[in-house]
Amino acid sequence: MRKFTITTILASVLFSLAPSPKAQSPAYDLVLKNGRIIDGSGSPWYRADLAIRGDAIVKIAPSITESAARTLDAEGLIISPGFIDIHTHARRGIFQVPTAENYVRQGVTTLIEGPDGSSPVPLKPFLDKLEALPKSVNFGSFIGQGTVRATVIGNANRNPTAEELEKMRGLVEQGMKDGAFGLSSGLFYVPGTFTPTDEVIELARVAGRFGGIYISHMRDEAAGILDSVKETIAIGERGGLPTQVTHHKVIGPANWGKSVDTLRLIDEARARGVDATIDQYPYTASSTSIQAALLPAWAQEGGRAETLKRLKDPTVRSKIKAETIRIIKNERGGGDPKNIVIAGCDWDKTLAGKNLAEVVRMRGMEPTIENAAEAALWIVESGGCSGIFHAINEADLERILKHPATMIGSDGEIPIFGQEHPHPRSYGTFSRVLAVYVRERHTLALEDAVRKMSSFPAQRLGLLDRGTLRPGMKADIVVFDPNRVRDAATFVRPHQYAEGTSAVIVNGQVVFERGAMTAARPGKVLYKRQ
Ligand SMILES: [Zn+2]
Repeated sequence: MRKFTITTILASVLFSLAPSPKAQSPAYDLVLKNGRIIDGSGSPWYRADLAIRGDAIVKIAPSITESAARTLDAEGLIISPGFIDIHTHARRGIFQVPTAENYVRQGVTTLIEGPDGSSPVPLKPFLDKLEALPKSVNFGSFIGQGTVRATVIGNANRNPTAEELEKMRGLVEQGMKDGAFGLSSGLFYVPGTFTPTDEVIELARVAGRFGGIYISHMRDEAAGILDSVKETIAIGERGGLPTQVTHHKVIGPANWGKSVDTLRLIDEARARGVDATIDQYPYTASSTSIQAALLPAWAQEGGRAETLKRLKDPTVRSKIKAETIRIIKNERGGGDPKNIVIAGCDWDKTLAGKNLAEVVRMRGMEPTIENAAEAALWIVESGGCSGIFHAINEADLERILKHPATMIGSDGEIPIFGQEHPHPRSYGTFSRVLAVYVRERHTLALEDAVRKMSSFPAQRLGLLDRGTLRPGMKADIVVFDPNRVRDAATFVRPHQYAEGTSAVIVNGQVVFERGAMTAARPGKVLYKRQ
């Protein structure tokens, strides 16, 4: 007995002297202590410590006392799931700025690309390239109906032949097999706008068979918005898959207030069993190209060369201009050229930040709507610009935000810091919801806002291991100060990072703390699980 004990002691002494990392390694890699947990489900916060090992949350308890390689004190702070942005154009920038700093500083840990009908087709080479890129955030994609159609029949305004339809089905199927989260459409844009509803349904069915969702920048967000919501619902209902109105907004003063009816349509659809949802960014201005926003779709058929040809023909040009005048009056111009701001132009960087009235004056004319239309055509002819359009009403925004089936999505991108004049949504969306619509206006409870940024989009995408704080889930986490969190980017000065985020953790590794990005690049490419 005695001998055995000595042997055991000797063995354990020898063992502890041996370089065995296992024997010495702490119980956890990282423990967040003393914070308030908002788990993402919408339930009220509670006080607990949270432990991480590897890339996963392994324990949440009132007090965690076992050893940890690192401890972060979250006293006075909120610990919540990292935010999931279901609508981004982040392929603009991810390869130049793989930290996605503008998003991480808002607490975003997952970016989903391929919205508005526009994605790389085929998807696989793009996702492979992303796999090879060390990055701070997770990244996934939809497959875009517009790009699929353009690949098969170009930008022509006609129906596909049977073979062409089959080819498009094949491209969507391949996209889903490559890991897309569903089918996106941009029926407002060329060539999406030339697509009959039935054709979209045919492709949506394919995405649905693979467990994907349908997400749509609708055909018309202005006068025809009710028909567009009906169409979006019908595509989900007849296509047999969940459907989502993306960046829901009501454009143009003449249409303000219609969100009462759009939300009623969503409620009625849900009541009869159609899985219809919404996402939204918290700004009263939208952003897209001047050409897409201010020219009628028919003028853009066939691509840029065709558009320029039409603008050279005086008769056709005056027809286009009449439509542009109408759009500035009633739709994205909100009735005043001042509401249209240039975000960026490759051919003249000095135009960024100027509104259309200023551009008109620069050209020696009075800033009437008619002259503004002429300036818009000049911009298109000169090479085009991206624009920001102030034509959304705050009451509609808040009404949509409050709806339980609305989640948050930025519709943003990854800007090169200081370059061009982007929409502030890329820098501020998530922090703005927490600052303005939770803390200042009490439009949402903090827990509900977090739900709209985490568990809700995760559920929508089928990301079953993210979006909620529970043992076993991937450790995508944001720690923020609910009293200090705020968006700093404005329409006048967009290049300003959000504030109030203390730490951001992606797949168990700290990517942001003490006001700076770390060297960690733990972001993963995410694929739809079938
Ligand atoms: Zn869009």
